[in-house]
This record gives sequence, C-alpha cells and structure tokens, in this order.
Amino acid sequence: MANNFIEAIVESDLENNVHKEILTRFPPEPNGYLHIGHAKSLCINFGIKQKYHGKCNLRYDDTNPTKEDVEYVESIKEDIRWLGFEWDKECYASDYFEQTYELALKLIRQGDAYVCDLSADEIRETRGSLTEPGKESPYRNRSVEENLRLFTEMREGKYPDGSKVLRAKIDMASSNLNMRDPVIYRILRATHHHTGDAWLIYPMYDFAHPIEDALEGVTHSICTLEFEDHRPLYDWVTEHCGFTNPPHQYEFARLNIKNTIMSKRYLKKLVDTGVVTGWDDPRMPTLSGMRKRGYPAQAIREFCAMVGVAKANSEVDPAVLEHCVRDVLNDTADRVMAVEDPLPVIIENAEGVEEIAVLNNPNHPEAGMHTIPFEKEIFIERADFAVVPPPKYHRLVPGGMVRLKGAYILEYVSHEEENGRVTLVRCNLIPDSKEGGVNASIKVKGVVQWVPKHGAVKATLNKYESLLVDEVDGNKQFDDRINPNSLEVTKGALVEPWIMEKEEGSCFQFMRSAYYKLAEKTENGLLFYRIVGLKDSFNKK
Ligand code: ATP
Ligand code: MG
Repeated sequence: MANNFIEAIVESDLENNVHKEILTRFPPEPNGYLHIGHAKSLCINFGIKQKYHGKCNLRYDDTNPTKEDVEYVESIKEDIRWLGFEWDKECYASDYFEQTYELALKLIRQGDAYVCDLSADEIRETRGSLTEPGKESPYRNRSVEENLRLFTEMREGKYPDGSKVLRAKIDMASSNLNMRDPVIYRILRATHHHTGDAWLIYPMYDFAHPIEDALEGVTHSICTLEFEDHRPLYDWVTEHCGFTNPPHQYEFARLNIKNTIMSKRYLKKLVDTGVVTGWDDPRMPTLSGMRKRGYPAQAIREFCAMVGVAKANSEVDPAVLEHCVRDVLNDTADRVMAVEDPLPVIIENAEGVEEIAVLNNPNHPEAGMHTIPFEKEIFIERADFAVVPPPKYHRLVPGGMVRLKGAYILEYVSHEEENGRVTLVRCNLIPDSKEGGVNASIKVKGVVQWVPKHGAVKATLNKYESLLVDEVDGNKQFDDRINPNSLEVTKGALVEPWIMEKEEGSCFQFMRSAYYKLAEKTENGLLFYRIVGLKDSFNKK
C-alpha cells in the first residue's frame, strides 16, 4: 500500500505500464554536508527504490563551481551509506556538460534560445512582476546563425564573465515568471571540482536538471515545494530538447524543524565563524553531526517515516526526533550507573567486596548481565541527598532510607559538612535487603544510582542545547539567535568500572540521567556526549 501521494503515483504508473521500472534520484549540490532535511528526501527516493524494486541514482548537481568542493562530495556518500542506503549509479551533472551544451545548440537551431547581452540587473528589471508582463530583450530576435556563433564564442572564452547569457525563448508575458525567457547558460571562469578548467560556461539548474533526469532515464523526479512553479519550465525543457517518455517532477513539503537550521548556507556560516567545531559538531543538525553525537541511523529513518510526505509546509517539533532517538536507544543501549557530581558515602556495616550482577538492558534480558563491585565506600549523586529536602523529595535524607539500584537499602547514620557543603554521608545497609532477600520488601520510596570508589572511571560529559535560541520579539536575525550556551561541559563525573570494557562509539543509558555516547577513551579519563534525555516531552502531547 502506498504510504503517501508520491507512492500512490508510482503505483498507478506501474499498474498502467507507464514505466516498467522506477528510477528515482537523490540530487544534492555538493556545497555542504547533508542535514536532517536531506534525510527526508533520501528516505523518500530510496524508500521508493526499495519498496518498488526500482533503482535510485546519487547525482551530484554540480553546476555551481564556486561553491562546491570534493570534501562535500565525499561526505555525502559517507552520510548516505550511514543512513542505510546504497545508490545504483553515481552521477555528476558535470558529466553531461557536453550533452547539455549540444542540447543548447539544438534549442538555438530551433529558434528556442538566444544569446542576450543584458546585464543581470537589466534582466531582472525587464522581467516584470506578478501583475505586469516582462519586456522583451532587444537581443531576442537575433538570427540563428548569430546565436550559434555567439554561443560558441561564449564557450571559447571570447567574452568576459557576466557579459552574455543564453536565454530560452519562451514568453515574456507568461503568468509564470520562470517562463519569461529564463537564463539557461552563463559565463563563469571558475575551476570546477570535477571538470577542472574545461568549461567557461555553465548551465543553470532549471535547464540542467531536467536534462540530467532525462538522460539517466529517471521516471519520478522528486523535489521540494519551492520548485512547483518551475515545473512548467522543467516540462518545456524536456519537450523542446526532444526527449520521448520524459521524466516528471513531483513536489513535496520540505522538512522544517522548529529552531533548527536547515540551510547549508547558514550551517556553513556556523562552521566558518567557529561557532561549532565543524560540520560534524554534535550540535549540528547534519547527518555527520547526529552520527557523531550518537543518534542511531534507524532513529532518523523512523523520524522521516513518522513525519510523512505532505504537500503543505509545516514545522515539526524537535521533540519528535528526540522521541525517535530515545525509542531506538531504549532498545539497544546498555544501562550503566554514573554520577555527575559524586558525593562519598561510607557504608559502615559493609564488609569486603561483593559482586552485584545487573541486567545490561532490563527490556532485553538476552542482552546479558554485567557485575559491579559493591564495597564500603561508594559515591552517589550529590543531588540524591538533601539535608533540608524540598517537598516530594524521595531520595536520601537525614533519618531516612533509600535503595541503591541493584543492591541494598541504605539507612542514614550521619553526615559531615564543610562550609555548608555536605562532604560525606555515613549509612548502614540493611542486611538481606537486596532483591529477593527477606528484607527486600521494606518500603523505600527512592532508588538511586551509585558507583564503587574503587575502579570507578573519571569522565567528562558534554551536554548540548539548541544552537539557536527562540525568536525574541519577532527578531529573526540569525546572528542574534546563536545560543552562547549550546555546549556545557561537566568534569569530574564517575562511571562504573564495566565501562572500561566498552569501545569508543558505544551508546549507554546512564540510569536516571540520560543517554550518552562514549566518544573518547584516553589515559585521563573518558569523554561522553549526551545524546538525548530520558524524559519524553513528545509522548505527553
Ligand atoms: P540548502 O538550502 O540547505 O542548500 P538545498 O535544497 O539547496 O538545501 P540540495 O543539495 O539541492 O540542497 O538538496 C538535495 C535534495 O534534498 C533536493 O532534492 C532537495 O529538495 C532535498 N532537500 C533539501 N533540503 C530539504 C528539506 N529541508 N526537506 C526535504 N528535502 C530537502
Ligand atoms: Mg539546491
């Protein structure tokens, strides 16, 4: 069954034998890293390939040499593979430059294109508006011979950048501004990352894209809603270039996430101005940033499925993505105990060292168990003991009891303070109060995590907030919205010893805290990235 309107079109085309095999394409411009918005396009295009046993090409839309780079070309492939997709052909718009040029000549010979000497400003000024028709260029009626000569000379480098363009000869009075003799070729002296200095003229997106699709045999050319107005031009190009059985363009709504930057231009600015450490900074909404932070690829795919494919633009709450991340990690991440701000506890009646066995993931007993040494000296979270507890505080207080996760019930004995700060808590354990013991049923409201003093591993925790703060008073200025506190570093945390057996890149649930990824293991301790919290604000809604 079709999951959305595009799949419905594909199904109907297959049923009616319009196409024998479906071919889609993902066409990034290699001018930046892929972000979560691209993931939606990837899921749609590769989703159709998988579901309908078709094909999907990766095509670099590299018609804009000044902004493009091989670094981006490589990163895009890595990100697509990570997301779990494999393309059929790897294509480059620039591989078709010769064919695109030949088709431009064909248009000229048909009287469908002309060389125009107006400047970019003049072209804009004579384009008219939604209420007024455009003005025809004085160069519009050049002869075919003259146009052929001028266009060939543009390619040969006879004219400076910007001095001439090739325009499609369509209709300056069209109600669609894109049809008012759009520019289809420009002169540009720039070294291209794929073709080097071979070309001095470059086709414009609106001309190149339908040709690329048609040459590859794409059946469904799926793009975002901004291109809806360009569809008549898309169809004009395939028709006048003489393609039979041409591809068709279908538009869906872009993915927008509240307070999330989804434009490569702005993401690049964050990188270039050092607001972040790179395109793969864990705070970035790029696929590489999310991968580095510990977001599972599966969570991103599930998010895209959940958001769906619509024809109207909307804004998604970031809590939806976090929900998906949490959902996957809940299934896959091992549970460990960690304390961020360790408070020493001495258990006066504890003797020796006891190995406590805990399940790696209580939802999945098959994920096995590991042990934690339990001993006289442990640490608990400072916030889990209060001399003067706030209301509804169910943790350790003077005169109270608390259960240590996976271990005994503790009973408060005394505590020490220095300058109003608690430095030590003394407790007794209640014998036989472990799960299954005769005293296990003693009523204790709070359960807290702990780590043993010996073998606990020092850790630094990097926690992240949104890179952008909410719009204040309608102020949408990008620079004013950069959150100066998007990274918080907590040093001096302690994690249970088992963590040392784990490899960099593994993800964990720190019990009662959040999901973390083990980012680095060094002699000075461990570095963790906070992936996402445990509380789900999406489910509540
Ligand atoms: P940006 O504005 O960030 O540069 P773009 O649309 O120019 O984005 P492309 O590299 O041209 O980036 O995009 C490749 C494909 O991904 C296109 O088909 C585009 O429509 C799609 N895409 C880009 N951003 C989004 C988004 N936010 N939601 C859905 N699809 C997107
Ligand atoms: Mg684009």
